[in-house]
Amino acid sequence: MPTAAGVSRGTLYVVGTPIGNLRDITLRALEVLSAVDCIAAEHVQHAQKLLAGHLLSAAHARIVPLHQHNEDSAAHKIITLLEQGKAVALISDAGTPGVSDPGALLVQQVRARNLPVIPVPGASAALTALSASGLIAPHFFFYGFLPTKSGERQRKLASLKTLYACIPIFYEAPHRILECVADMQAVFGATREITFARELTKLFETIHTCPLGEALDWLQGDENRQRGEFVLLLAPVEEPQQEEISPQAVQILAILQKELPLKQAVQLAAEITGESKKRLYARALLEQKLTSSPP
Ligand code: SAM
Repeated sequence: MPTAAGVSRGTLYVVGTPIGNLRDITLRALEVLSAVDCIAAEHVQHAQKLLAGHLLSAAHARIVPLHQHNEDSAAHKIITLLEQGKAVALISDAGTPGVSDPGALLVQQVRARNLPVIPVPGASAALTALSASGLIAPHFFFYGFLPTKSGERQRKLASLKTLYACIPIFYEAPHRILECVADMQAVFGATREITFARELTKLFETIHTCPLGEALDWLQGDENRQRGEFVLLLAPVEEPQQEEISPQAVQILAILQKELPLKQAVQLAAEITGESKKRLYARALLEQKLTSSPP
């Protein structure tokens, strides 16, 4: 049942807030924030600033902290409020709660109790960066924050090497930007392109694309480029084409293989067809496997 101000009782609203520019907030988000009984916020002060910026200071008394160190206990409190019929808004310091930010645990627990959860969409740094990157691919992969230690970071990056036709998206803190980019170059090579989306929606917003091999020079070319908040996007790469051998070569190889030892069959097939010995050998092994395995 809606309250007088238009939010529903006993409902959790997950509200997206700006990632820098205070005005990047929806009308609906402002309506919800002004109407709910309680706001669960990552940092109370940060929420107060947001509300004050939109002349919603009357809402101050209702802010409760919910951050990564108290999410479980805060979730209990919020669930009690919801069960009492109160409407609660969940916000984080920036962007969308639950995206590299606390909130997912609360939402999970609220949904597990069959209490309503309503999303109020807003900004997210990953999608903001993607939208202005000019990168084209059928898929993108949001990774978020990489591990802080180089060895582990390189291992995680290496596991993304076969993510073909896809744009991997990372978040990174300014004090790790140089080492993170160095690891990216070590894993993906100097020619893969990276896009830096820095300080999005803020005064010093920068969107810069270059090959990974030039990225450290660019960052070090001006100390200011290493400051602020970063989204890093890697250009998509195509899946390497498996070179096929011609159907005629496959047929010739199969005939020779029936009559000759494998090595000789491959040698002769290469001479007759001009195909690479390596590819013919791989095909011969496959043929051998196929014909020796039971039907
Ligand atoms: N929940 C947020 C979202 O929806 O994007 C992300 C929060 S996460 C704790 C913060 C990270 O997001 C920053 O370290 C940075 O990598 C990225 N980020 C947030 N705001 C940004 C901005 N204005 N410009 C570039 N990156 C930003």
